[in-house]
Amino acid sequence: MSPKPRSGLGVFEGYHSAQVPATVRLNTNESPFPPPSYLLSRWSEAVQDLSLNRYPDRQATMLRQAIARFHKVEPEMVFVANGSNEVIQSILLAYGGSEAKAASFEPTYAMYETISRVTATRYVPIERGADLRIDASRLEPDLAAAAASLVFVCSPNNPTGMAEDPSLLSRLAADPERLVVVDEAYGQFSPQSMVPEVASRSNLVVVRTFSKVWSLAGMRIGYAIAPPEVAEVLWKVALPYHLDSSKQLLALYSLEYVSEMEERVAQLVAEREHMAQRLSDLPVEQWPSAANFILFRPRDRDAGRLWEQLVERGILVRDWSKWPRLENCLRVTIGTESENRAFLDALEELLA
Ligand SMILES: *Cc1c(COP(=O)(O)O)cnc(C)c1O
Repeated sequence: MSPKPRSGLGVFEGYHSAQVPATVRLNTNESPFPPPSYLLSRWSEAVQDLSLNRYPDRQATMLRQAIARFHKVEPEMVFVANGSNEVIQSILLAYGGSEAKAASFEPTYAMYETISRVTATRYVPIERGADLRIDASRLEPDLAAAAASLVFVCSPNNPTGMAEDPSLLSRLAADPERLVVVDEAYGQFSPQSMVPEVASRSNLVVVRTFSKVWSLAGMRIGYAIAPPEVAEVLWKVALPYHLDSSKQLLALYSLEYVSEMEERVAQLVAEREHMAQRLSDLPVEQWPSAANFILFRPRDRDAGRLWEQLVERGILVRDWSKWPRLENCLRVTIGTESENRAFLDALEELLA
């Protein structure tokens, strides 16, 4: 006999991406590039001078100011946490709970449902259309049926890669009593963003991360751009001193290298277009991506078996083939030019 955990936590089997040895890792949408080496040396030197016997700046003042400058918003509109997953958890701790309901458009990022459950919030899936886009013609009735006080929408969406129409996202935020959270983890790969809309709305939050384009997945830094009243509530539910001093410093320094980051984004976008082009010559269906990955479905082939054959060749992609609504689909992250070539050559050979 073991102590019984709180009911409703559920078991989240099958969510985590398989971690198997592979030389070409294109399964978790990280940046294939390490952070710039001069950034790392500057940071590691500065870490020596941090007073680590003291608690960090609890409100990450300098970092918030830098993020605010980057997005042309006020520092009071910035909340920072250990990865955007913790930002999402903070939002659910503050606005979810047993009396609330959260909704999102499936298929989407699985953490909205997982963290809803962990915070005892009821989760309501809303079905996307057959093209895997949010069905604009059903939006208001679907929202009314879901009766959710919180809506998560991932744009560009993981794992489909498609960005949502900004006017549709504005329609989501039409009811001021509903908190709308737009997850822009892949925002820099897409020409559009909802950040400029936040200042004029009381119920719109945009979530961003340093994990993808900033090449800092290992450091766990994410943030929200939110109305000041909402940001204030998020700071209330955060644990005291949740952001360590070295992390605050690294994120702060990273924001001084915007052009380097943009160069990498441009490189990955060019690689993505090249990958989409080559996939279009193969017997696969693919969805147009505004992110750093592409969802595709081999025709007349078992995707699970294809995934294994790729692994045998040292290439790891993400297997979505057993997921509802994503039957027989695989997702490939855009890597370096040589990684992408290795993947495409292997795929071409396997599908020949
Ligand atoms: C990768 C990803 C994140 C990032 O999570 P972190 O906790 O910041 O690493 C958030 N949302 C989506 C949709 C993602 O794909």
